Amino acid sequence: MIQDERAKAILQHLAEAVVCFDRQGKIELLNRAAEEFFGYSASELKKRDIMALLSKHDTTEASFSVSSLITFDVGKNSHVVRDLIGRRRDGGICHIDISVRELELEGIALYVGIMRDTSERKRSEKELNLAAKVLENMGEAIGVTDADNKYISINPAFTRITGYLPEEIIGKAPALMASGRHTSEFYQMMWESINKDGQWQGEIWDRRKNGEEYPKWLSIVAVKDSGERLQNYIAVFADLSDRKAADERIHFMSNYDALTGLPNRELLHDRILQATIAAKRLRKKVAILFLDLDRFKAINDTLGHSIGDLLLQAVAERLKGCIRSSDTVARLGGDEFIVILPDLPEGAHAAIVAQKILDAMAVRFVIRDTELTTTASIGITISPDDGIANEELIANADVAMYRSKEIGRNNYQFFAPEMNDSAYERLTMENNLRRALEREEFVLYYQPQVNSATGRIIGAEALVRWRRPGVGLVPPGMFIPIAEESGLIVTIGEWVLMEACRQNSAWQREGLSPIPVAVNLSAVQFRQKNLTEMVADALKETDLDSRWLELEITESGIMQNAEAAVNTLHLLKQMGLKLSIDDFGTGYSSLSHLKKFPLDKLKIDQSFVRDITTDQDDAAIVAAIIAMAKSLKMRVIAEGVENKGHLDFLNSNGCVEIQGYYFSRPVPADEFRKLLMQGIWNITLCEDCAHRPRPMSGPAISKDECPCVQCIYSIKDADRRI
Ligand code: C2E
Ligand code: MG
Ligand code: MG
Repeated sequence: MIQDERAKAILQHLAEAVVCFDRQGKIELLNRAAEEFFGYSASELKKRDIMALLSKHDTTEASFSVSSLITFDVGKNSHVVRDLIGRRRDGGICHIDISVRELELEGIALYVGIMRDTSERKRSEKELNLAAKVLENMGEAIGVTDADNKYISINPAFTRITGYLPEEIIGKAPALMASGRHTSEFYQMMWESINKDGQWQGEIWDRRKNGEEYPKWLSIVAVKDSGERLQNYIAVFADLSDRKAADERIHFMSNYDALTGLPNRELLHDRILQATIAAKRLRKKVAILFLDLDRFKAINDTLGHSIGDLLLQAVAERLKGCIRSSDTVARLGGDEFIVILPDLPEGAHAAIVAQKILDAMAVRFVIRDTELTTTASIGITISPDDGIANEELIANADVAMYRSKEIGRNNYQFFAPEMNDSAYERLTMENNLRRALEREEFVLYYQPQVNSATGRIIGAEALVRWRRPGVGLVPPGMFIPIAEESGLIVTIGEWVLMEACRQNSAWQREGLSPIPVAVNLSAVQFRQKNLTEMVADALKETDLDSRWLELEITESGIMQNAEAAVNTLHLLKQMGLKLSIDDFGTGYSSLSHLKKFPLDKLKIDQSFVRDITTDQDDAAIVAAIIAMAKSLKMRVIAEGVENKGHLDFLNSNGCVEIQGYYFSRPVPADEFRKLLMQGIWNITLCEDCAHRPRPMSGPAISKDECPCVQCIYSIKDADRRI
């Protein structure tokens, strides 16, 4: 037992917890620090087993016992047992290391254990472990350098992104990875910020071990010790190349045209804006060249869209070849391109580029072994002279382009304000029509042709209307002339023909009595080389027998190219179609002249019919037309027959085929179907419509049931009255 009181006092005041125990582990003594640490008083533990202070099971060694504490290596009389888990009186546990030393006191072996609480260290070790795990598994790369900015540690993501293994980079400076894309000022500013603020972050381009350059988002922190001395730099970075590629793709898709790779409408507006702002500052001019390929549609239609697309790509390449790098060529859509020439000293200089473009286009294109020629029409506006706003500049260039088309295509025109009035309106209309075609806004109405002697429907004329959103039903007179000028009538006409044949075929399949449907052909269509094939295709596709199709051609349509017309008409006639001459009397052609054309029918123009009851001249003309048609063995029909006076005059002159409001206005297909089912008009009348025809047979009827077309349609919406 410890005799020396002084030694005992010292022991009591030691900061370390001390426990003495004998060979069996019986506690002989513990100091105050140990009492405090374990929460027991010394007397409570006296002669208790030291194992009471330890958690046997929680020790790292499974077979831990007193002997583990007092077994020393040969030649040593002390050892440290680590990683024990102590158990306090309140059940709380703590991590401890015990350093044990053997003493001999009065012939008895005693063991002195000095204990150290390692809980704190353990916790920080655990945290460090965790931190290391996080660093290991982080997607972001981490590189730690020393105060001299040489790598001392990197994580696996660092290797994954840069390609450098730890052994290849440790001891080296980050400059090893520099791409050379940034100036020395850039790095200087970066280091200034790190030194001043202790950190920097931003996008930077570096080079991987394989030489590939890549962008990364880098943040660097300077780590200092408590004495403000620099210890390390920690750099954390993420590879931006994937994100950059995706961003670039999105940027490309929203700003560039997918087919040609040229800037699209969006980017074009941006460029024009930039150019006009810069030009204003520098007192220069900007030219906007609006280019439209001539007859591109024909190429597209005859050779197919894939050839059309390849041609557009080739045109884009040629255009790029005509301009300087500071100029822009963009695709507006379809076959329309815009060239921006910024900073011109004189607007007139744009003519040089325009001519260069026309010359470049004049060289034949070879697309998939096919030689193609296409010319272009160009309109030019100059900013600020012709406008400031983008829309105005483009619209004016468009008008000027339209003018170059008008004067024969394959040339350029500078915009002049007087071009605007009618051309602009026409242009908007043309664009709207193009859109209407795409959006299928056209519909067909049908007007019955009646034999007034029998009251039977003997045919129908298909008349196109444009169901224009927000406007209503637009009559053909308002858009056919523009469609003819722009050539759009070819596509519209093709649709009309196909739709009329389809409808007629459907009525026949339904079992309704077959009638011919008359379709109007514009002179432009009549000149198309593939007209006969187009008609044959429509009949074939809709499975309509050719005798149920009639084509209406105007006098001018035939006379414009009489030689070719004879051939075409003969071909059509041979196919079994009926041919009629529309608006007869307005074209000043003599009947005998028309004799050489294989025509079946004359349609007397409504302008003569309108006044037959009041104007003697018109009455005489109409009577003469009827008589001559008969002598030429042609059928004759009068259009624009609006009242009984008209009808009586025509009948008395031997014209019984009648088309006009007197019988019916043009009506939608489903309404016409009802007329076809009813089939017949009679001269006996319902009470209300005493002056109008009604069905030949059947009992007396009320107005509601009256099949008189006027009665039926007076109840329906005004739409149909067009
Ligand atoms: P059109 O071929 O001479 O057609 C007859 C026109 O006279 C139609 O006008 C018809 O609604 C109108 N009409 C019929 N009966 C009467 C009547 O009793 N009184 C009056 N005042 N008018 C009557 P719509 O439908 O406005 O067509 C006008 C012209 O547009 C047509 O004259 C035709 O030249 C052209 N058109 C219509 N559809 C087509 C088409 O699909 N293709 C082509 N190329 N032209 C078409
Ligand atoms: Mg007609
Ligand atoms: Mg007509």
